[in-house]
Amino acid sequence: MRPEILFPLFAPVSTLKGVGPKVEPLVERVAGPLVRDVLFLGPSSLIHRTPTTVDSVIDGQVHTLNVEVELHTKPMRMDQPWKIRTFDGTAFLTLIWFKGHGEHLMRQHPVGARRVVSGKIERWGNEIQMAHPDYILPVERAAEIPETEAVYPATTGLPARTVRKLALEALSRAPELPEWQDGAWKAREGFIGWRAALERFHNPQTDADLSPLAPHRRRLAYDELLAHQLALAQRKAARRAQPAPVIPAGSLADRIEAALPWKLTGAQIRALSEVRGDLQSGERMSRLLHGDVGAGKTIVAMLAMADAAEAKLQSVLMAPTEILARQHFETIAAPLEAQGLRVVLLTGRDKGGVRTEKLMALMDGAADVAVGTHALFQDDVRYRALGLTVIDEQHRFGVSERKRLQDKGESVHLLAMSATPIPRTLELTVFGDLDVSRIDEKPPGRTPVATRVVPSPRMGEIITRLQEAVRGGAQAFWICPMVSESEFADLAAAEHRVVELRKVMGASVGLVHGQMAPAEKDAVMADFAEGRLPVLVATTVVEVGVNVPNATIMVIEQAERFGLAQLHQLRVRVGRGRRESACVLLYDPPLSDTAQQRLDILRRTDDGFLIAEKDLELRGGGDPLGLKQSGFPAYRLADPVAHRAMIAAAADDARLILNRDPGLTSERGQAVRVLQELFDWRAGGLTDAG
Ligand code: ADP
Ligand code: MG
Repeated sequence: MRPEILFPLFAPVSTLKGVGPKVEPLVERVAGPLVRDVLFLGPSSLIHRTPTTVDSVIDGQVHTLNVEVELHTKPMRMDQPWKIRTFDGTAFLTLIWFKGHGEHLMRQHPVGARRVVSGKIERWGNEIQMAHPDYILPVERAAEIPETEAVYPATTGLPARTVRKLALEALSRAPELPEWQDGAWKAREGFIGWRAALERFHNPQTDADLSPLAPHRRRLAYDELLAHQLALAQRKAARRAQPAPVIPAGSLADRIEAALPWKLTGAQIRALSEVRGDLQSGERMSRLLHGDVGAGKTIVAMLAMADAAEAKLQSVLMAPTEILARQHFETIAAPLEAQGLRVVLLTGRDKGGVRTEKLMALMDGAADVAVGTHALFQDDVRYRALGLTVIDEQHRFGVSERKRLQDKGESVHLLAMSATPIPRTLELTVFGDLDVSRIDEKPPGRTPVATRVVPSPRMGEIITRLQEAVRGGAQAFWICPMVSESEFADLAAAEHRVVELRKVMGASVGLVHGQMAPAEKDAVMADFAEGRLPVLVATTVVEVGVNVPNATIMVIEQAERFGLAQLHQLRVRVGRGRRESACVLLYDPPLSDTAQQRLDILRRTDDGFLIAEKDLELRGGGDPLGLKQSGFPAYRLADPVAHRAMIAAAADDARLILNRDPGLTSERGQAVRVLQELFDWRAGGLTDAG
């Protein structure tokens, strides 16, 4: 229940002055539907409106000047501006307006009137101009022009200054709230109170005030991180509190393991014992197996499924695509069936009698393990006794999809798998409600992928080498990046590449892209996976995790546009077998220093976690880690990179708060409730895996 004190902040933005039906959708787009959302929208830069005289203005700077109107010049043609010549005793300043202004300017600012104007100065030859002044006021109202002004995010039809006004109004509605932060921590970090911090947030005086590391911004960020970690901790606790079947470590899994042609790696052994610890606990497991593609996650999951089968419980393994489901089936069916278990593959392809037969096997318990896609949780799919669900590339499923699968059984254990490299520092925010097992060691015998960084003018050489390799029986991925906002433009670029490659290599070149129907895409992928198609051109990330052992070459165009994590995930698709593999990172010169350093990281290491960590250190703007894709929470005040040092503290704090006061009834507990309501993370369910 929302405390009354927060009501003003949870009012719709339409209650703000000046927000009518026309402006409302624009405000919603920029900030969100609630006054709170406007309150949390911060300025991104500062304008310094330096007051001076016209003879000492600096070109390109924003100045505030005291002038007298001397002359209006009407435009002679439509495309010419309306001009007002002004003078301040030192020099002339020309104010100009394009389009549609006119006679009313003459009325509002008659010759002889004294005005204070503020805006950006531009010199054109000898003329000093200010186009569309930000302010033009009678001198008596000069005080209305701030010396420093915060610039807010804007959109067409909603200028930054209007957003600023709305933000300040939202601020005026923000009440003083009870302090939810721990007193000692607050003092140590030099934090000010919540409302005072917001006051500073919206009234920055210096550029340092805009830094994410400014104390008031850190305070607000910490609040958000804490609210999120509290929600994650509560979710985790709620899940643990649900009883789940006890699944002992069995001898069946041991026999399967012994029959494998190789030994488990240390990391696999560790992960398996962590999984088994959960399965035996009587509490519901929610664990993530985190490791690179090919690190051996599926094998660990398979052994856990064998344990479940021995305990007379069924398991499902769900993959985001048909082809991945098929590959998982191929990996696990034989070892499980060799020990007498029955494994079925269920995908959208199964129709009619075949499907009915598989559904029967799941319903009567004849099948121990089901591998498949979304088809696994259609309404008519019933399980006799589902005990464990394994979800591959879990972030590619929506919360509701995962939930529907969980609901197929009573209190089902959950094992999620992810190959998205996420640095340890950020793991808590992405997977905070899961226990995490990392598989950070690769099975032995893999040859490292030779990685080269090559300027695109040398693409011709690369194509020649590729052609030779293909003649020798090799297979290659060729990745075209997402460049423009328009998927169609990207597609055109990829199609163009296919045409170019086909000129040299003929029909051996195929194309997959996001606009294709799934079945069509699967067919091309299958041709490639089964070796019928030597070269596969793809737009951006195609099928995360696809295993094509024969593919030994990965060419990535405009590699500088990808996040390192993404590049890494592409690269791990080659180098699966014992054969030498190569990855060519093409770039459009010149390469910036940072871009150079980033690509160098890939040449130096193939450890996905290390790459992600390094990338974070070198991070520029945007989303180079591809975090959005991996289910990263959408923070408003916290920056997961700039504030990463506080994430662990917030997680500890959350745990401590809930351990001491699970019902949140103490004085601090009550304040913490207000914090939680303020951010609403519980409703978000962004990383909810269950
Ligand atoms: P992931 O699910 O992490 O992508 P998989 O479990 O599918 O990885 O394993 C990838 C490949 O490596 C499979 O062909 C598997 O048989 C093999 N593999 C797994 N573990 C080992 C190991 N310990 N030693 C050698 N090969 C392994
Ligand atoms: Mg995999």
